[in-house]
Amino acid sequence: MRTPALTALGWLLASLVAPAAAQEQASGLSAQALRFTVANAEFTLMHEMGHLLISELGLPVLGREEDAADQLGFMGLFLLHDRQHDATFYAKLMDVADYWRLEWRNAERNGDGIALWDSHALDAQRFYNIACLAYGSDPDRLDWVLDVSGLPAERALYCPEEYQQVAHAVRWLRERLHPPAPGTPRHRIAVVYDDPPSHLADAAALQQKIRASGELEAVARKASEAFDLPRDLTLRMTTCGAPDAWFNRISGELTLCYERVAYFRDLAAQLPAERAPQPTR
Ligand SMILES: [Zn+2]
Repeated sequence: MRTPALTALGWLLASLVAPAAAQEQASGLSAQALRFTVANAEFTLMHEMGHLLISELGLPVLGREEDAADQLGFMGLFLLHDRQHDATFYAKLMDVADYWRLEWRNAERNGDGIALWDSHALDAQRFYNIACLAYGSDPDRLDWVLDVSGLPAERALYCPEEYQQVAHAVRWLRERLHPPAPGTPRHRIAVVYDDPPSHLADAAALQQKIRASGELEAVARKASEAFDLPRDLTLRMTTCGAPDAWFNRISGELTLCYERVAYFRDLAAQLPAERAPQPTR
């Protein structure tokens, strides 16, 4: 039997929320909550990498950049997990959709949703967009997505086409964006770790574990090998005071906050109330 495939980044992020198996048990984090946390941390990183590539490579964007970054982030998960498209991978895609459903429902309860004028789509729309792309990526195997998402037939009918359109766009870009020629100077993405939040237990050990894993460096290296970046960039894991992530196109720095990963972990506790049964195949 094949064990569920965790990417290198997955291991890193798993170690972030559960530094060791014993601590995972002690923290009471279920396998489902851990998968939800890792999946959404990966999607966050891939979404921001989408902004980075759009900005640094001058990619043309039709429509809103935030929608394009979500699409690049979604396809980035496929690239990150390469050919490991098994039941666990598909469940992770729905973890990403479910994050937006949780934000949508919580905002309805608290009356603090995304403003209509915002550059981001509404949380509910991001939920349906991700669910549609997930279903459309493999409609024969993923008909259960329609049940767990409530995506109506009117939209679902066109989801395979929507997915093919996004996949085509990414293929088109990859064919035209050549890596740096061998022997030419290559710009790199440096990975920097600032101190994790002081209130986090085992902070020093946690940071040491992340650094020792070298997995964020692996993602940064892959990006600088695949694309001819115009300048050196930075991927910074830091304490922000808020569960955030962003790419600063002036400084060329992608920031991923420790608090954002912790936020996904906390939100995962709400999953049982929202989450439909796991796929059986
Ligand atoms: Zn964004």
